[in-house]
Amino acid sequence: MRLVLLGPPGSGKGTQAVRLKEHLQVPHISTGDLLRAEVAAGSALGREASAVMARGELVSDEILLGMLESRFSRDDTKGGFILDGYPRNLAQADALNTLLERIGQPMDAAVQLDVPSELLVERIAGRAQAEGRADDTPESVRTRLKVYSDQTAPVVDFFRQRGKLSVVDGVGSLDEVFTRIISALQPVPAVG
Ligand code: ADP
Repeated sequence: MRLVLLGPPGSGKGTQAVRLKEHLQVPHISTGDLLRAEVAAGSALGREASAVMARGELVSDEILLGMLESRFSRDDTKGGFILDGYPRNLAQADALNTLLERIGQPMDAAVQLDVPSELLVERIAGRAQAEGRADDTPESVRTRLKVYSDQTAPVVDFFRQRGKLSVVDGVGSLDEVFTRIISALQPVPAVG
């Protein structure tokens, strides 16, 4: 199964991806985690990305595409993957489409986690206390939510137009949301 998780910061993509990875037995590819690993390693890429990430803006499409191409070249992605944090704008959606067509592994499904914005702010504030991520400042959170509505929300339509989108209610317990995602991924039985 090749799956994209869509949803604003705080919608629970990362948490659900970890469970889905166990369930589907495919790797979880989080572009946020890949970037944070570069920052932690102090690589040239990480040095370039860290200030942009701390502000809550998008790291360049070129950097992201390069990172993904190298991740998809690893054998563990041959049986599928869960992509979390990408694509974040229409250019990335197009680039992903082209890349996956080229390697003969088109996307199977996209799941959008739907969570009202008041709840997002509350969840991110809770996570900021627990994890102390550099980009969980109020200013950066505002920017990330705005970047989502301006640039990432159109990506939802990109998958909808291709008949790949399921919208899942992201409000509820972790188990409830997980169960909804799994049932959204079941093939719809043919009538008759
Ligand atoms: P969240 O969705 O909770 O804000 P992520 O861990 O997905 O957090 O991403 C953290 C930051 O990493 C983003 O704010 C952005 O700066 C950078 N980033 C992650 N994925 C991408 C991407 N696909 N394109 C550009 N920047 C990205």
